[in-house]
Amino acid sequence: MKVVTDAVHDATENLMIERSMCKKNQNRRSAEGHDNDVDSRNCGSKCAICDNRNVRTIASIVGAPTHCHMICSSPEDAYRAPVGNIRLGFCTSCGMISNLEFDPQLITYERGYDNALHHSPLFQSYAEALASRLVEQYQVHDKRVVEIGCGDGYFLRNLCKLGGNRGWGFDPSYQPKEAEDEDVTIVAAYFDAGTVPDAIDFVCFRHVLEHIAQPRQFVRQLREALPEGAVVYCEVPDGNFTLAQGGIWDILYEHCSYFTDLALAHLFREAGFRVLRTSSAYDGQFLQLEAMAITASPKRNFGIQAVPPQRLEQASQFEQNYRNAIASWNQRLEDFANSSKRVALWGAGTKGIMFLNSVPSARSVGCIVDINPDKQGRFVVGTGTPIVAPEALTTLVPDVVLLTNPTYADEVQRALDELNVGAEVLPIS
Ligand SMILES: [Zn+2]
Repeated sequence: MKVVTDAVHDATENLMIERSMCKKNQNRRSAEGHDNDVDSRNCGSKCAICDNRNVRTIASIVGAPTHCHMICSSPEDAYRAPVGNIRLGFCTSCGMISNLEFDPQLITYERGYDNALHHSPLFQSYAEALASRLVEQYQVHDKRVVEIGCGDGYFLRNLCKLGGNRGWGFDPSYQPKEAEDEDVTIVAAYFDAGTVPDAIDFVCFRHVLEHIAQPRQFVRQLREALPEGAVVYCEVPDGNFTLAQGGIWDILYEHCSYFTDLALAHLFREAGFRVLRTSSAYDGQFLQLEAMAITASPKRNFGIQAVPPQRLEQASQFEQNYRNAIASWNQRLEDFANSSKRVALWGAGTKGIMFLNSVPSARSVGCIVDINPDKQGRFVVGTGTPIVAPEALTTLVPDVVLLTNPTYADEVQRALDELNVGAEVLPIS
C-alpha cells in the first residue's frame, strides 16, 4: 500500500489550498480540515452503492468550478463562479468511484445547461445505431417509452419513430419548440412517473446517473414506478476507462459518480432489477446497462462481486499518477514562469479547463486557444484565463503551447507553422 503523506503531496495540497484562499471567492467552501484527511488508506466514508467503508481517496481538487463548461464574460465573473471540492473515493469492495464531498445544492441543470456531446456527428450516429438496437432487441414496438434527461428529445424521438412508440421525456433544461411531435411529450422538469398516464414499458437515461447525488435512491424510486417486466437502459461514462486511461484531467464537479460495471450492476440488482447486459461502448468510454424490473425475493442476498485485482491496481496507479502529474506540472509551470517563458494552452474543453483549475501554478498560463468562435473573447471559469483565436498567438508569441489532446498534435503544429509561431508543443497527458 502506498503511503501518501509524502512531502510532494503535502506541498501540492498546500499550494492548492493557498490558491483557493487567495481568490477570496465568497462561494468557496473552507479548505480547513480538508488537507489532513486525504489518505490512500480507507478514509472512513461509506460507499454510496454497497455501504462498505473500504473507500480510499484517489484524487482531490480543492475549489473546482461546479460548472466546468460555463464560459464567463469577464475575469471577475470567472473568479466569482461557484466552486466545490472534489475528493474522489474508490470503493475497494464494489469498484464504485464517487466524489465524497459532492454537494448537489451547488449544481443546477436549469436552462442553459448543455451537454456538448450531442453536437458531435460521431455521437449522433452512435445514438441512432443504439436506438435501433434497443428497439429490435427488446421489441420496443407500440410501447410507452420514457427518457429521463432527454435533452432536446432527439434520442427519444428516434425510439418513438423506429418502434411506433409513444414517448415522454423529462429534462429541466428543455426549451419547448414551436412544432412539437404528436407522439412525444417533453416536460421541462425532473422525472415524475405520474405524468405518464399508463404503465411504462421502457425507460432510458443516458449520461444522467453520474450527475445524481444519491443514485441508489434514484434507482430504487425508479423501480417503484415501473411494472414488472419493464426494461431499463442506462448509459454512463465508464469509470473503468477513466481509471485505466488515467483520465486525470477528466474529473469534473458535475460528475459525482464514476460507475464501474460491477458497481452499476450491483446498484440495479439491489433495487429489484435483473441485469440483462452490461457492456462497454464508444471506444470504451461509455458503460451500458440493460435491466428488467422483477419482483425480487426480500430474502435474496445481493452479494457483491469482488473487484478484480487488476482494477485495484489501476486505482492505486491512478492515485499515484494523479499526484505525480499535479506535482510535476506545477513545478514545470513555475519553472517556465521563473524563466519568463510565455505559456499558452490549446483547447478549452474539459481537459484544458480542469488542467487550469487543478494545477496550482497554471494560473500563470497566459491564454487558452480555441477554434470555437463562441468561446473566443471570453474567460475560463475559475481561473479567468482568456480564451483566444489561434491568430492571437502571433501577437502573444508564446514560448510553449500546452496541448490537451495529443490526437491533435499534427493539426496544432501545422496551425502554429502557418502562423509562424515557433513555440514548443507539450502534451499535458
Ligand atoms: Zn462499494
